[in-house]
Amino acid sequence: MSNIKFVCCLCGNDISHEGVDPCALSLITRWQEPEDKQNFQQYWVHAECFQNKIFEHVGPIDILRPDDEELPH
Ligand SMILES: [Zn+2]
Repeated sequence: MSNIKFVCCLCGNDISHEGVDPCALSLITRWQEPEDKQNFQQYWVHAECFQNKIFEHVGPIDILRPDDEELPH
């Protein structure tokens, strides 16, 4: 078991190893530029915080569902 402490970049609370958490959120700057002009950084995030804060029209993100949750048909 890892001793790494994960803190959510959206709510500031610790993230426990539960369900699909911890999740990593990747930020790439200057995405339309060549890769050598881009910068990349990764943040920790609760799946629930991410789903709750993104623009509502993006809708549910399937990869954030726990493995045992059934997908809609
Ligand atoms: Zn959070």
